[in-house]
Amino acid sequence: MTKIRVLDPDTVNQIAAGEVVERPASVVKELLENAIDAGSTSILLDVSSDMAGITKIRVTDNGEGMSGEEAALAFHPHATSKIREIADLSAIRTLGFRGEALASIAAVAEVTLVTRPRGGGALAGTRIVVRGGEVVEESEVGAPEGTTVAVERLFYNTPARRKFLKSRNTELAHVYAVAESLALAHGEVAFRVVQNGKERMATQRSGGGLTTIAGLYGAELARSLVPVEGRLPFLRIGGYISRPSESRGNPSQISVSINGRSISSRQIAAAVREGYGTLLPKDRYPVAFLELSIDTGLVDVNVHPTKREVRLSREREITGAIAAAVEEALTKHDLTRETPDEPVQQQIVPGGAEPVPSPPPVAESGASYTAGHRSFTLSDRQLRRTETEGGENLLPAMEPIGQVAATYIVAEGSDGTLYLIDQHAAHERILYDQVSEQRDRAAGSQELITPVVVSLPPKESAALRDAIPLLADGGFVVEEFGRDTFAVRAVPAALGAAEDPGTIREAIADLLADESRTAPDRREAVTCIVACRGAVKAGAILTPEQQKRLLMQLARTKTPWACPHGRPTVVAFDRRKLDGMFRRG
Ligand code: ADP
Ligand code: MG
Repeated sequence: MTKIRVLDPDTVNQIAAGEVVERPASVVKELLENAIDAGSTSILLDVSSDMAGITKIRVTDNGEGMSGEEAALAFHPHATSKIREIADLSAIRTLGFRGEALASIAAVAEVTLVTRPRGGGALAGTRIVVRGGEVVEESEVGAPEGTTVAVERLFYNTPARRKFLKSRNTELAHVYAVAESLALAHGEVAFRVVQNGKERMATQRSGGGLTTIAGLYGAELARSLVPVEGRLPFLRIGGYISRPSESRGNPSQISVSINGRSISSRQIAAAVREGYGTLLPKDRYPVAFLELSIDTGLVDVNVHPTKREVRLSREREITGAIAAAVEEALTKHDLTRETPDEPVQQQIVPGGAEPVPSPPPVAESGASYTAGHRSFTLSDRQLRRTETEGGENLLPAMEPIGQVAATYIVAEGSDGTLYLIDQHAAHERILYDQVSEQRDRAAGSQELITPVVVSLPPKESAALRDAIPLLADGGFVVEEFGRDTFAVRAVPAALGAAEDPGTIREAIADLLADESRTAPDRREAVTCIVACRGAVKAGAILTPEQQKRLLMQLARTKTPWACPHGRPTVVAFDRRKLDGMFRRG
C-alpha cells in the first residue's frame, strides 16, 4: 500500500469549490457571469434570506440557453463551451473559461437548472437537479428560452465553510457589490436585483455610462462626475471620475473594468489617485468608474481563481496613460462649478442674541460674494458650536495676526514667537475632544429641525442598517423608512441641529467606508469622522475675531498640539530660530 492516493472526483470538486465558492456572493458572481456570457439582454437576480442568512440564490436570463445534452455536461468539472485550448485565452471575450463554476457550486449546494435553447429548436426545456455533485433528477419540462439556475443549501456539506459566513447583511452587501460591478461593466444588459420580493437594484439597457451610474448611485453623484478619456494604440480609456470635492476615505469607490471584466487592481487605483495630484489630500480617494478596453493579447486573465485580478503586459504604459487621462479630465473641466448645495439656513443659537459679524471683504462679483458669505456663515456656526466656558489654557498666550492661504492662522506670542496654526486640524482637535466628552456623558445628540433623508445604493444601505446601533452610540438617530431610504432624526451636537444635509450625508458615507473591526475602533472612527466633517475647512476665510476664538478654544483642549490623526496643529518659530534664519546674533 502506498500512502499517496489519487483523490476521488467528489473530493477533488469540493477542494476546487473551496477556491471558487467562498461565500454566497461568489455564487452570484459566477451565475451572473454565465448569464452575461450567454448573450442575455435581461438578467434577474433573486435572493431569498431569513434571519440566519441567505437561503436561495436564483439567476434568470434570456440568453442562448442549453440543450439537454449541454445542460448535463455543464456540471462536469472543466467542461466549457468558451475555449478549446489554452491559446484561446489570449483572445478571450467571455468572462468564464475555466469550466469549473457550475461543478464547484453543485459540489457544495443543491442546484436546480432549467434551460431551453434560444431559437425554437427544442420544444421542451431541460430541468436538472444536482446535489453535492450527484445528479438527483433530470427531466423535460416546459420552459421559456434562456436559463434559470437556483442554488439552495449552500455549504450544507461543508460546515467549516459555513461557519465562516458573516452576518446576513454583510453577505447581502457582498452580493450587491458583485451585482453592482457587473452592472457597471455591462450596460448592454438590464439587471434587476430582488431580495425577499423587494427590488433592490435595477439598471436599464442603456449602453452603460452615466445612466447606469445614476441608476445605481443616484442622480446626485452622477451629476457631479466628469468624463475621462484616453487612448494608446492598444488601449482605450473611458468612464467618469469625481471632482476633488467628492472624495472618500478609502479607494473602494474606484471601480475598474477591463474588457467587461470587473477587476481590482491596486496599480490602477494608484494611477487614478496620481492623476489628482495635490487636488486631494494624502488620505483621500476619488470616486471613479473606469472602463478600459485593452488588446486581449496584453491581458492575462488566468491568474486568479475567481478572475478578480488580471496581469497586464505593458502595465507601466497603461497606468501612465490612466494617470494622464485623469489629470487632463480634471484640468479641462471647471471644477469650481459644483452642483449647487442646499442654501445654508441660519443657525438658531439657543439664547444667542449675539449678532452675526459682517462678512469679510471678499466681494468681487456677485457670485463670489455669495460663495464667500456662505462659507463665512458656515465657519461662524461651526466655531460657535464649540464655544466653551473656562478651562485651563494649555497654549502659550498668542495674538492672531492674520491668515495665510485661508488655511493657516499666523499668530504672535508675547515673547516674540511666531506661530502657524492649521485651522482645520485645530478645529478638528477641539471637536474631537468635545465629541468624546459628550459621548461619555451620553449627552451628544441633538434633534434635527427637519430630518435629513439619505437614500443609498443597496450595498451601502445593508451596511448602514448594520451600523444603526453604532451610530446611535455616536449621537446619530437613524431610522429606516422605505426602500434603501433612511431618515436621520438627530445628529451629534457637534454637527449642529441646522447643519446642511451635505455634511450629514458625507459623515455617513465616511462611516460606511470605514473598515475598523472592533467596537471601540468603530466608536473612535465615528468620533473622528464627526470631528473632521464638523470642523472649519481649509480655505475658509476667517475674521480676526473668529481666528481669536479658534485659538482660545484650541488652548482649552487636552492636547492642543496635534489633531486626532496625530498631525501637528501648531508649529512654532521662536525668536532665536527666527534670528538664526536671518543670521542675526
Ligand atoms: P465557464 O463559464 O467557465 O465555461 P461554468 O461551469 O460556469 O464554466 O459553465 C459551464 C458551461 O455551461 C459554460 O461554458 C456554458 O456553456 C454553460 N452555461 C452555464 N451557464 C449558462 C447560462 N446561463 N446560459 C447558457 N449556458 C450556460
Ligand atoms: Mg462560468
